[in-house]
Amino acid sequence: MSWLDLYERPVQISGPCSAESEEQVLQTALDLKATGKIHALRAGIWKPRTRPNSFEGVGEVGLEWLVNAGKETGLKVTTEVANAKHVEMALKAGVDILWIGARTTVNPFAVQEIADAIRGTNIPVMIKNPVNPDLSLWLGAFERFETAGLTDLSGIHRGFSVYNHPKYRNVPSWEIPIALKERRPETKIICDPSHITGNRDLLLEVSQKAMDLNFDGLMIESHPDPDSALSDAAQQVTPQRWSEMMDQLILRSHEVSIDIAGKIDDIRSRVGSLDDRLFDLLSERMLLSEEVGQLKRENNITILQEEHWKKIINSRLEHSDDYNLTSQFVRKVMDAIHQESIRHQTRIMNPGKE
Ligand code: PEP
Ligand code: MN
Repeated sequence: MSWLDLYERPVQISGPCSAESEEQVLQTALDLKATGKIHALRAGIWKPRTRPNSFEGVGEVGLEWLVNAGKETGLKVTTEVANAKHVEMALKAGVDILWIGARTTVNPFAVQEIADAIRGTNIPVMIKNPVNPDLSLWLGAFERFETAGLTDLSGIHRGFSVYNHPKYRNVPSWEIPIALKERRPETKIICDPSHITGNRDLLLEVSQKAMDLNFDGLMIESHPDPDSALSDAAQQVTPQRWSEMMDQLILRSHEVSIDIAGKIDDIRSRVGSLDDRLFDLLSERMLLSEEVGQLKRENNITILQEEHWKKIINSRLEHSDDYNLTSQFVRKVMDAIHQESIRHQTRIMNPGKE
């Protein structure tokens, strides 16, 4: 049982990136509460900043502002903890829910220290994905908290670091939270579009995608005066704007009615036959690769022929639009086929070794 089960999907968490003043925290909480759509108030007290000399949070005094704003509004409150001392102070202040930041999830020592500090309580913990796209690290953090006896654990998907991406601050790589759901079907996952996009104009688009992927909730940063925020100004919105955006979200049901299920099953079985054919073709293709491998072996030619490979890839990429497929997808499929083909030829070249 998670605190997230208390509310209907999507569970809504919002509030400033950082607590900056008592008035700012309370004003945000009251404005959010007035929308009637909010379930929990967030605010960072200790901010893990990538570069020094940025605003690093107000520290312990902010806990009181957060907890008081929670009392005033009846909202649950949540903050990020990054070490045992933070845990001790947050628990003492009466914070309802803790979250583990992306820069902490990457570090098993830090996660273990926090898990040991929380041991014996049953406070809910939301675990952000690590900054790098490593599912095992994310799963490992869940396991450390579980081993410490915590049962109310949920995930927050906030995207993954990349260098200079044209669109996102942190790329969503949706396949990773989807893989987390697969590995931990009972675990609820919240999406954090603010840190994925880094840009308020993209929040709705990413929130909609999260809803269509059946995420359980959203955590979006809000501030009474976003442009003057001391951290993450470009991605914050006013509570009023947040509310307008949430009104525009289309919530689709996860349940499938019987008549629709029949129609979907029919199409799915045709998709299944196509998949069968795809794999038959791939298998036939690998037989041809093996024939080429045999010739390469007999004539002492290297497996990798870069020029030829470049030609194959380019000719496929040129046709991405005709296939109605993205060039990224075509590239991924061709890379996978090439790797498998190299594996087959390696087996031919060096029988018994791969
Ligand atoms: C935050 O939620 O403000 C934050 C620092 O997030 P992350 O750990 O995802 O960078
Ligand atoms: Mn932030």
